[in-house]
This record gives sequence, structure tokens and C-alpha cells, in this order.
Amino acid sequence: MKTVVILGAGGLGCPAALVLRDEARARAFPLRLVIVDPDRVDRSNLSRQILYTGDDVGELKAEVAARKLGAEARVERFSPATAAELLRGADVLLDGTDDFGTRFLANDEALARGIPLIHGAVLGWTGQLLTVLPGRTGCLRCLFEGPPPAGSVPACAEAGVLSALCGVVGATMARAAVQLLDEKKIFFSRDPQPGVLYRWDALHGTRRPLDVKRDPACAACARVAS
Ligand SMILES: [Zn+2]
Repeated sequence: MKTVVILGAGGLGCPAALVLRDEARARAFPLRLVIVDPDRVDRSNLSRQILYTGDDVGELKAEVAARKLGAEARVERFSPATAAELLRGADVLLDGTDDFGTRFLANDEALARGIPLIHGAVLGWTGQLLTVLPGRTGCLRCLFEGPPPAGSVPACAEAGVLSALCGVVGATMARAAVQLLDEKKIFFSRDPQPGVLYRWDALHGTRRPLDVKRDPACAACARVAS
């Protein structure tokens, strides 16, 4: 039995969880899916957070998503205080949260525990994905060092989020997880690859790969358990 922990049951977490559940069923590999989200469904979420309907407005996202997918719900915020408990037994961590602090925390906590991380993000017309293998590929901090200064990058609420792109990036996150979990390598493809940052530009219809170099001075990579 493999365990996948998904942070954020929003625009990325919903399609990622759905595809992952269906892939596991189709390939008959046992999967324990843990969905972490402290928030409630808002009517403005419905266009891209495809596990919810109007009937779910006001309900806890993690509980609704878990009920519909046969997963486990954790109504908690991912923080230094909750990370150890939430990541216990995790084989892969999917991060689809929408704030920089949590993304870097997810990176650091996954690396410190040797757990592969699949990072996804969508803002406006752009999306990105990076699979981090602790000690083997570069990580989010090798690439960006740390969160941008407050206010320098607009939040999802200000810049908006393209719903269709959430589906594409979320499903690709699930695909990346299956590549790591499916030891028999059934239907294995070389895409997406770990250690490559994929950037979608929906305005121009492009997706570009960028090799992420390991930074020998990276503080997060230095904490990888050997
Ligand atoms: Zn690093």
C-alpha cells in the first residue's frame, strides 16, 4: 500500500486527487490518499475545484473531497507543528497550495524526511510543476532560494487562475506521482521527469522544460537524510 499526501484540495488538489484515485484503480495498485486542507468550499471555487458542487458550499473541502474519493481527510493547516504527523508514512507528497510560505515549507519538510515532492502552481495564465527527489534532483530552494518578498507577486485572488490550466497541471501532478509509485512501470513514459521545472504559458499555448541544477549551497538539500 502506497500513501500519497495531498496538500490543498483546491484548483490543483481536486484534479490531482481524482486522476490519482482513478489511475490507482485502473492499474490495481493499492493507494492510501490523504487530503489536507483547513478551508471550506466557497461558491467562487466551483469553476476549477471540480470535486465540489453548489451543495457543498460551506462544507470542509478535505471532508467533501475525501468522502467522494474514498480518501482520508485532515482538516489542518500544514505547518512546522503539523508536518511530522501529516507526513507520517507518506511515499509521495503533492503540494497544490497557493501561498509561497507553505510551498517552501512543504519542500523543506519533504526533503528532511526523504519524501519525493511534486510541486504544482498556477497563477493567471501560467502554471508550473517540479518533481523533487531528495538528494537526487534540485529542489524548490535550489531554484528560488526562498519565497519572494511580500507583495512582489500577486496572489491567486488578485491575478486570477485559469480553470482549464488547473486541470492540466493537476492531472500532470497525478501523472508524476504515478511515475514514482508504479513500480511495475506499466504505461511508463518519460514525461514529466523529476528535476525538470515545467512551465505552461496558456496565453501562447506552450509548455517549456527547464533543467533544475542542484545548488551545492542549498540549505534544504543539505538536510536530506543520508
Ligand atoms: Zn535544494
